[in-house]
Amino acid sequence: MIILEEVGRASGGMSLLMEALGVLFLDTLNKYGTERQREGVLPKVASGDAVGAFALSEPCCGSDAAAIETTARRVGGEWSISGRKMWITNGLYADYFLLAARTGAKEERHKAITLFLLRRGPCVETTPIEVMGVRGTGTAEVRLEDCRASDDDIVGRLNGGFEAIMRALDIGRTAVAGVGLGIMRGAYEEALSWAKERELFGRKLAEFEWAQFELAEIYATIEAAKALTYYSAYLFDARSPLFLLYTHIAKLMVGRWAVEVARRAAHLEGGFGYSKESKAEMFYRDARILEIGEGTNEVMKYALYKFIEKGLPSFQF
Ligand SMILES: Cc1cc2nc3c(=O)[nH]c(=O)nc-3n(C[C@H](O)[C@H](O)[C@H](O)COP(=O)(O)OP(=O)(O)OC[C@H]3O[C@@H](n4cnc5c(N)ncnc54)[C@H](O)[C@@H]3O)c2cc1C
Repeated sequence: MIILEEVGRASGGMSLLMEALGVLFLDTLNKYGTERQREGVLPKVASGDAVGAFALSEPCCGSDAAAIETTARRVGGEWSISGRKMWITNGLYADYFLLAARTGAKEERHKAITLFLLRRGPCVETTPIEVMGVRGTGTAEVRLEDCRASDDDIVGRLNGGFEAIMRALDIGRTAVAGVGLGIMRGAYEEALSWAKERELFGRKLAEFEWAQFELAEIYATIEAAKALTYYSAYLFDARSPLFLLYTHIAKLMVGRWAVEVARRAAHLEGGFGYSKESKAEMFYRDARILEIGEGTNEVMKYALYKFIEKGLPSFQF
């Protein structure tokens, strides 16, 4: 998470790429994959010789992931996978997909979803999607037409994919907050040096009380975000059941704060902050994904209210 934060200071996109690859793809495969799957893929991806992507969302369903329609059907002794995945980070570049597919009736929802490790082949077609921020993360639509997989390509249990997906996202949410911390710090650092250099009305911008108050508030927000995110990461390391609660709080609050901090940083830069030369402008666009990817703000609140109502479910460390 700290590495994501540091990389995020320079580029939200690079940090998000590392998060999707390192947490969603690698960590999930490491925890749920068989020895053959791990040995065949992890070293190649860790060395940079191959790229992996986590393919869950579809045109029909992002928040309602239990309703996905990509289907794996039994054909002879194999699985035939067909469907469409949407908004897949690294989708353009991926050699391997950790892919969620329906292995039972749609009415069975999350109880009939299986994770497959699928290698890119002629049955996979990817199309780039133009996105507002985090550009360069290879966001793509992924079409699958009769992709063949064997039982050995199942990651975790048949029909047990949803548990692995939820665990990946629960960890991913604190990691995404780390990306947000980096974005906030990068935007703040640029705005601070701008305010110290920029002259108007015969004074430096940083000498105006309004600018001082803006910078102070941005700084306070970053420190609050840091305390929350580090606490969530600490709870994970300490194997505390409270992690599940705090990972949702961190994702919700840091995502929102990152958008606000980047907007205020860009505003301190006036017209420059609206230009492509400004890094605050980039961070502002990058930050918006933090309110959407790996569960929108509303999905975080939905989960939080469930904890309020029912208490914490168990989490597999
Ligand atoms: C740049 C980018 C990268 C992404 N990378 C990946 C990736 O690598 N892998 C992957 O699988 N997915 C990825 N996604 C998809 C992302 O996870 C989904 O876009 C996200 O979960 C939202 O789903 P949706 O787009 O279908 O919106 P919807 O689920 O249709 O939501 C629409 C709106 O309704 C709100 N809403 C949803 N449910 C409720 C509710 N119960 N109550 C009230 N309001 C609700 C949402 O908050 C949202 O505002 C990526 C998306 C983007 C934009």
